[in-house]
Amino acid sequence: MAIPEKMLALRKMEPKEGYTMNSEPVPLPKKDEVLIKIEKVAICGSDIALYHWNQVAQTIATIPFIPGHEAVGIVTCLGTGCQQLEIGDRVAVENHFYCGECYTCQDGRGDICAKMDQYGHGRGTEHGGFSEFSIVKEKYCYKLQYETTTPLQAVLLEPMGVAHNGVETIDVKGQEVLVLGAGPIGLLAMQISKSLGCTRTIIADVNPARLQLAEKMGADVCIDSSKEDLHQKIMELTGGVGVSRLVEATGATPVVNSCFSLLRKGAKLVLIGLPKSAIHIENPLQNVIFKSLTLTTVHGRKIFSTWEKCEQLIKDQQVDPTLVVSHEFPFQQWQDAFDTLLSGISLFPFKNK
Ligand SMILES: [Zn+2]
Ligand SMILES: [Zn+2]
Repeated sequence: MAIPEKMLALRKMEPKEGYTMNSEPVPLPKKDEVLIKIEKVAICGSDIALYHWNQVAQTIATIPFIPGHEAVGIVTCLGTGCQQLEIGDRVAVENHFYCGECYTCQDGRGDICAKMDQYGHGRGTEHGGFSEFSIVKEKYCYKLQYETTTPLQAVLLEPMGVAHNGVETIDVKGQEVLVLGAGPIGLLAMQISKSLGCTRTIIADVNPARLQLAEKMGADVCIDSSKEDLHQKIMELTGGVGVSRLVEATGATPVVNSCFSLLRKGAKLVLIGLPKSAIHIENPLQNVIFKSLTLTTVHGRKIFSTWEKCEQLIKDQQVDPTLVVSHEFPFQQWQDAFDTLLSGISLFPFKNK
């Protein structure tokens, strides 16, 4: 494939809201890097923070940078030291750029590398997925296993991987799973729980349209917690003892605070959502200590086992991540994409600055 001289790329150049679209030279890969022709890029919640350039953004990113960390594309040019990939390979980017040397990496846990750099955040690289071509180190590329995996499915392996990684930590097989929050991660966690053999999925949200989608995606029980008392409903459904497995995917502090009272003794819960303020637990002895709970958290995906498992689930039609996509835009209409998310007309709006 002929590589053009120029490409379009979004950049955050100054510490203020928004991005600028520039025409700039297509970069060339250095030794252990590849050049990718980007096929799809998804907008993540953190991209909204970066767009606004709020407090959170300032702690997770460094200007200048090209945003976009959920990206897939085709390998178009190889650095001289590349050994795994070939021109034409289809890849998705693992955006947790692990160092390979710190104590977590030495433990085989690059996903939570203590010195992690991040794609699309100006951390260790200025490159990101909101550009026509991008540079990534070969070792951070996940080579797609199946030709049948579409670019849209592939770009969703990253967020789906977060849900999968979380659900895997709570052993859902043969258990009933309650998912709090029917946003993209919650919906995917629900489908993944089913694919991993849970007996029943219950999902709660305050948005009826999201609950409709949850039902379409196979949720067994949908609870509108703006209309029904969630605690009472869960006790009704579980013979008064609470659920054995819980996925917290709202990140809303009051929901996190109250979720412990929904659990039975010996339950396992995973916190996937990102609460922004201190967590407070009522009746800690009754709600936590005497229940002998297992609480897990995740950050990102296991590299690369989560990717392989997720792609397999998509191929086997166990999970369809594309159902959580509400809009698609051509790259030039990037501003419309952000405006749509910020306006609240999307099913998964981001209104908070
Ligand atoms: Zn993300
Ligand atoms: Zn490391």
